[in-house]
Amino acid sequence: MSRILPYLDESAYAAETLSRAQIALTDLDGTLLGLGGSVLIDAVGEPALTTVSAIVEVNRAGFEVVVCTGRNRIQAGEVSRILGWKSFIAELGCIVMYDRREPIEYLLGEWPEGVLLEGETPYQAMTRFGALRVLTETFPGKIEEHDPWHTDREVTHVLRGSIDCETAQAALDTLEAPIAIIDNGIIHPPRHTLVDVDEVHVYHLVPKGTSKEAAIRELLARRGLTPNEAVAIGDSATDVEMMNAAALGILVRNALDDPRVMAATEGCDTIVATRAERGDGWAEFAHAWLAARQG
Ligand SMILES: [Mg+2]
Repeated sequence: MSRILPYLDESAYAAETLSRAQIALTDLDGTLLGLGGSVLIDAVGEPALTTVSAIVEVNRAGFEVVVCTGRNRIQAGEVSRILGWKSFIAELGCIVMYDRREPIEYLLGEWPEGVLLEGETPYQAMTRFGALRVLTETFPGKIEEHDPWHTDREVTHVLRGSIDCETAQAALDTLEAPIAIIDNGIIHPPRHTLVDVDEVHVYHLVPKGTSKEAAIRELLARRGLTPNEAVAIGDSATDVEMMNAAALGILVRNALDDPRVMAATEGCDTIVATRAERGDGWAEFAHAWLAARQG
């Protein structure tokens, strides 16, 4: 490992930032949720209340937490509702729910006004532009939809396979609207129909110019807040990018094992790490926030 991040509990900068933090943006998978996507387990997968107790404490203190995830609107909305949170950012920053009483909004980055047909979702438009077709033609047998997570999406496509992203991007750049491909790391799908693929990656297709970071900036502006009053916690390279929209970024311990995440933190001096993994790391963050605000 090329560099070592300071731990949350030994960073004076973290304590100072948390003492004025009004809002926390949180990733779900691998961060708030443990193995298998459960919030009711500890870092090694045993049943535990550590994370939910911390959530209750944060809610009781009246601190705002916003889920910021690659998951779809239905999943992000249901998780947020169950945890008692009113806003969320879904599909990697392309869908924002500012408040439960308002309709959701799509953020489409560089897509020109009027590019969607009547009643068409951006997700459907991507298919119409030929995004899936050019990728399966360029990489036969090497890429497919990430069944069953590809359903109920409204903006972004989620795929799995093993492809060269530069070549894929060049193929996508021939299409009608600007679409970017993001490699979100290695996954272990229980089944797939890929041919001669040992290491399976998950890929997202997103409108160019969209990101968790851009969505967070939009949400903060709506709240009358600045990134200076926000903290973000996550476990992936795309989460490191969302930390640009917050005064403090926190990586849960399990993130440090991923060299791509560590590479993404290069040159970033506002990111700290928890000592515990996944939901236990999230609880560690929550307790630090509560202590800093009370102190
Ligand atoms: Mg994650």
